[in-house]
Amino acid sequence: MLNIILMGPPGAGKGTQAKKIIDAFHIPHISTGDMFREAIAKGTPLGLQAKAIIESGGLVSDEITVGLVRERLSQPDCANGYLLDGFPRTIPQAEALKAMGPEIGRPVNLVLDVSVPDEELVRRISGRRVCPKCGASYHITDMKPAKEGTCDRCGAELIQRKDDNAESLKTRLENYYASTAPLIDFYQGEGLYHHFDGMVGHVALFDQIVATLKAAQ
Ligand code: ADP
Ligand code: ZN
Repeated sequence: MLNIILMGPPGAGKGTQAKKIIDAFHIPHISTGDMFREAIAKGTPLGLQAKAIIESGGLVSDEITVGLVRERLSQPDCANGYLLDGFPRTIPQAEALKAMGPEIGRPVNLVLDVSVPDEELVRRISGRRVCPKCGASYHITDMKPAKEGTCDRCGAELIQRKDDNAESLKTRLENYYASTAPLIDFYQGEGLYHHFDGMVGHVALFDQIVATLKAAQ
């Protein structure tokens, strides 16, 4: 069973790897960031609540985030594995997931952590462009779309995320080191932790991740 957490700082390449993993292993992609962005785009009560927090680079409350994930993980398509991307992001979220996993029959059994130095994260995020329609991610120099400003997959016009600016990114990195990095020790303690070097390039990184996932299957 592949009940996976994909973790790493903003800009580590989680989104890119997540898309490849779900295609190769046929498991649902559960990205809390995508779920929040969808709620914002639709103007739901959750979206209205989360908008300002997210755009400034802050973290949505544990209570809201845990509730959202519990609901999503309980759905039938997660029975045969899932890939969590962007959750958990705090120790209380990890504790909540640890308690809910067995309760809903979906305990996490693998944690993949991709690390990248700060200077590179800043460079990647400031050049990042995303597709608002299908979620595909590009970079103005490293991963250009075939036609500038246009999504290769669905043809929509690419945008820059509102939180991909210098100030919000600074907050996101601070939150990452203060709140999310402690999860490394937590999952090492659980015996679930696997580290990957995010500087090797997205193709090599995917090969390494696949090897780990195949060994665990
Ligand atoms: P990143 O590129 O920073 O990894 P994500 O797309 O995963 O971005 O998340 C975007 C934003 O959504 C975060 O900066 C945060 O405001 C909010 N968010 C996503 N996941 C969580 C979570 N698990 N807990 C709290 N806030 C979250
Ligand atoms: Zn697209």
